[in-house]
Amino acid sequence: MKVTLTAVQMSAIKKADVVVDKKKAQKLLSEERLWAFSLEDLTLILRLANATYRAGVPVMADSKYDTLYIKELEVQDPDSKFLASVEPEPITESKTVLLPVKMLSTDKAYSYEEIDRWVKRLIKAANEIDFDVSDLKIRVTPKLDGYAAYDDGEKLYTRGDGTKGQDITRAFDKGLKVAKGGKRGFGAGEIVIRKSYFEEKLSSYFENSRNIQASIIAEKKVDERVQEAIENEACVFYPFKLLEGWTGHYEAFLKDFENILADVWGLVDYEIDGIIAEATNQDLKDYIGSTRKHHRWQVAYKVNAETAEVTVLKVTPQTSRTGRLTPVAQLEPTKLSGATISRATVHHYGMVKKKGVGRGALVELVRSGLVIPKIERVIERVEPDIPNECPSCQSHVVWDGDNLFCPNTTDCSAQAENTLMHFFKTIRNIDGFGPKVIEKIYRYGVKSIHDIYALDADKLIEIGFGEKTSENLVAQLRASRTIEIEDWRFLAAFGVPRLGEGNSEKLLEHHSLKDLINLSISEMIELDGFAEVSATSIHEGLKAINSEFQKIYDLGFNIKGTTRLKDQSGLLLDGELIVFTGSMEYGKRPDMEAEAKFLGAKVGKSVTGKTTLLVTGKNVGEAKIKAAAEKGVRVLSESDYLDELKSKPK
Ligand SMILES: [Zn+2]
Repeated sequence: MKVTLTAVQMSAIKKADVVVDKKKAQKLLSEERLWAFSLEDLTLILRLANATYRAGVPVMADSKYDTLYIKELEVQDPDSKFLASVEPEPITESKTVLLPVKMLSTDKAYSYEEIDRWVKRLIKAANEIDFDVSDLKIRVTPKLDGYAAYDDGEKLYTRGDGTKGQDITRAFDKGLKVAKGGKRGFGAGEIVIRKSYFEEKLSSYFENSRNIQASIIAEKKVDERVQEAIENEACVFYPFKLLEGWTGHYEAFLKDFENILADVWGLVDYEIDGIIAEATNQDLKDYIGSTRKHHRWQVAYKVNAETAEVTVLKVTPQTSRTGRLTPVAQLEPTKLSGATISRATVHHYGMVKKKGVGRGALVELVRSGLVIPKIERVIERVEPDIPNECPSCQSHVVWDGDNLFCPNTTDCSAQAENTLMHFFKTIRNIDGFGPKVIEKIYRYGVKSIHDIYALDADKLIEIGFGEKTSENLVAQLRASRTIEIEDWRFLAAFGVPRLGEGNSEKLLEHHSLKDLINLSISEMIELDGFAEVSATSIHEGLKAINSEFQKIYDLGFNIKGTTRLKDQSGLLLDGELIVFTGSMEYGKRPDMEAEAKFLGAKVGKSVTGKTTLLVTGKNVGEAKIKAAAEKGVRVLSESDYLDELKSKPK
């Protein structure tokens, strides 16, 4: 494939101090016989791939970089510093600092066979230490594709070369929050941007999410749209510790690999480029250890992305639950990663218009693994067709930013059917209520969830379903009320704007489902992570669904409540930011820190202006104590601290 570099890409390459002329760079990038490269040229390609990737104008897909070029480098020069430096340096001039812990990269697997071999190595290690393999569990989490960083509670660091990174604490100073209402100091994670938010609000201003991450960690002020995304917590620092996933026995992991992969892949609304599988047992992990580059108890499974140039046959609009018109491109059927692709969605009509996606356009299609194929870029544009009316109810459509909307919220069957489908799709414990079935039921006149739950087999036969199907659907409806369902999932199923699974869970950590529906805007703003805009929108949304919510709730679902968060105020050490230094006598320092946190304090690693208390153990230099006192920090010896704790009223 012939590669042409744009001026922006060339400038990114130059800025990163990679010296190469355009002609040579293009020639190298177009060369597919990687084995023919000299080590020097191979390194050059990797450096310019990094430079353009960092600048948000990548010259190649991530997977191509990983599977072809990095693999080739591993063959040619296993000790290359490139393999050790996992995350290329961001474009900033600041000095590097030592990371509080070494950040290793993750070994990668691209096939089931490689995963199978990794599990076999775990089993072998388990046998060597007499660890019972019937207890050998694997945890699987999404592999976030954001900007890697490490948060020690005090500072935020880039991953750098794994040993030294840069201090990017300023990202938190800009208001960046920890995902899921988490605290600072949870270690390694990624700065990520919610995919749906990016597509809805940012994609028309930013080519990709890399540019946004770069702006968050950069020294200059961030763009106001990015600032808003930070405030709406669409941009967060996501510590790996807080990721949900699948955990189970290794045999189940191997046997059900495809399904687990698909499930975990769909868990978060962030860009991900694979999954991470790891052993959970600490003894086993300690025994199997790490190489210089990565932990042996952990592996990333990545799926190769394939691309193809495809001709668009036509673009048709589809009205979603919210009335937004999604442009769906019909494509000349093309084989991609083992499947024949004939359709792909385009971002929004703004892109259709701007990039000229229509009949006869030539586009580049990308499919990575099980993910729905995406139109990555337009190679040859045409004059596109922009619809005037909703394909479902023929209402005149209106532009809102980059999107076309059907304004008919009360009587558009596409919006209504998609709302019903959203419910069943979100509660996840029911089969059978797909588009065809919903359409049939809706056209018959059954238009709400609670009416669907009231259907019996006779009625379904009358609607036009076969006897067997009808009985099955009734059984499914009954089962979906008996199978346990988390309250946040249940709430998210109602499709209230800005109240997805994440926000639902956040609210339910403070209020019960019943109370929540009547929560005022100010009560919501009091909670961490709800700005006025989203609180107002959620409040309005809840009001609008109130009566339907009550009816469905009264059907008697088996709802499992979210664990309520403890109120921190009133705890012994609430409001304190404590730093422990020196060696402690009462207990190990990590234990003392954990106890302080349990009692409501925040714990820092080094004294700053925000520190309220420095607890000193043995062998602490006078200078350190004096410096702390000068900053106005109270200093207590370990024994004084413990005495004070004992004497504090409970
Ligand atoms: Zn409509």
